[in-house]
Amino acid sequence: MTKNRVGIVGGGPGGLMTAYLLQKLADRPLRTTLFEASDRLGGKIMTRKFGTIPAIYEAGAAEFYDYTPVDEDPLRQLVAELGLSINAMGGSSVIINHQVLANLDDIQDQFGHGTRMAYAEFDERARGSMSPREFYESDFAEALATSQTVLRFDSVLSAIGEPAAQQFIECLIHSDLATEPEKTSISYGLQNYLMNHPAYMKLYSIEGGNEQLPQELAKRTHLTARLQHKVNRIARGSTGDLRVTSTHQGILQDEDFDFVVVALPNDAVPSIAYGGARLAAAMQRHHHQYDHPAHYLRMTLLFDQPFWRGKLTESYCMLDRFHGCCLYDESARDPDARHGVLGWLLGGCDAKELSVLPDDELIELALKSLPDFLAAGRRYFLEGRVHRWIGAVNALPGGIVPQNPDQRHQPEPLEHSDLFVVGDYLFDSTLNGVLDSASYVAGWLAANLADANDTDK
Ligand SMILES: Cc1cc2nc3c(=O)[nH]c(=O)nc-3n(C[C@H](O)[C@H](O)[C@H](O)COP(=O)(O)OP(=O)(O)OC[C@H]3O[C@@H](n4cnc5c(N)ncnc54)[C@H](O)[C@@H]3O)c2cc1C
Repeated sequence: MTKNRVGIVGGGPGGLMTAYLLQKLADRPLRTTLFEASDRLGGKIMTRKFGTIPAIYEAGAAEFYDYTPVDEDPLRQLVAELGLSINAMGGSSVIINHQVLANLDDIQDQFGHGTRMAYAEFDERARGSMSPREFYESDFAEALATSQTVLRFDSVLSAIGEPAAQQFIECLIHSDLATEPEKTSISYGLQNYLMNHPAYMKLYSIEGGNEQLPQELAKRTHLTARLQHKVNRIARGSTGDLRVTSTHQGILQDEDFDFVVVALPNDAVPSIAYGGARLAAAMQRHHHQYDHPAHYLRMTLLFDQPFWRGKLTESYCMLDRFHGCCLYDESARDPDARHGVLGWLLGGCDAKELSVLPDDELIELALKSLPDFLAAGRRYFLEGRVHRWIGAVNALPGGIVPQNPDQRHQPEPLEHSDLFVVGDYLFDSTLNGVLDSASYVAGWLAANLADANDTDK
């Protein structure tokens, strides 16, 4: 019997990319079923609209990373292949003590020569420690448990000496890290710093909303999407197939597959029961390896007009509130927009602790955090939206000691070589990382499908 039944758990970018790439690589038509717990596809790529005016904003992933300054970029290629237009994004300023600091001279004017020198030295050391090429290749590093991987990033920051330089760097990277420097490695901390350098990467978003990426993937892939089907259990069935049990409107349903891909964020991996002691233990070990949760909180506010233009000119800047947050000019994504939309992206402990507050209090906190030179703009406020992403991303992607790519993607190879996992947490917690992961599994699975069907002939 032809083996072509593929079950994919998770309708986020990882699940959709896997289905799309597998369709391209497989040597025969597939019967792909995608299980998604919510009522929509796209996962953490989520473009939303306000109620007052249908202005769009990104509630989840805001920007795509473009590595073409260094080498080929599969995500950039995928976006082009899907026919999506892009807008360049950029931001180099940090607002500290109500002052916009955009370069070394600004840092010196605000804090003095010592801070300028300390920051410049840090920057030189950071760039010296990882070239753009090394950064580009770092996600496929295998079992490099060097002292650099294990040591905490706060050890690098505290060595800077000048407190103002340290604060500047912390503000610059806190919202990208989504965690505190003591909860991540030196290499991940440095990567999040270096991504601000154009030699390492550029940034872009998708014109009309990032969610078009998952939508286009879904349109071009032959699959049965089972929305509002939360997967509860995966186990070997009596026929030898993998049985996926899901709940839809309170009713349990079983479906059998030749191959299953679990494409979930690491915090959702334990929400499924894995049948059999060997698989259950392997999935528990897998979850534990990557169990370094990080947090985001987004407050996005609609204003009658973009009152900050002229003072803030880029698509985002960093702000010294909430231990460093990113302030996006969401309306810069739409060149014709007459309204203004500002988005606050908080990371780490601040995001987690504040997420328990009601929306109206969080919106008020956002308004109060505006620097003095923008504070009067609150009179243009129309509507606010809050999105909580607690534990949804990873503070130490790859784990403390990175595994080789096969181990990452197949937690139990002996008796469950038909079960794969895909996730951004296996690489770098980004959309580029989840595409790397999906490509790896799609290639492997396509080869296994060909082998399985050859054997059956
Ligand atoms: C606020 C925020 C900002 C971000 N910014 C960026 C950015 O600027 N650039 C970037 O590259 N990345 C960014 N990311 C990360 C990016 O969103 C992720 O890399 C990407 O979404 C991972 O895709 P995924 O498919 O693995 O997981 P997800 O997007 O989380 O999708 C998983 C899907 O699985 C579903 N699911 C969960 N449990 C079950 C179950 N039991 N059964 C069935 N379905 C289930 C979920 O409902 C979800 O739809 C950001 C993330 C957040 C939260």
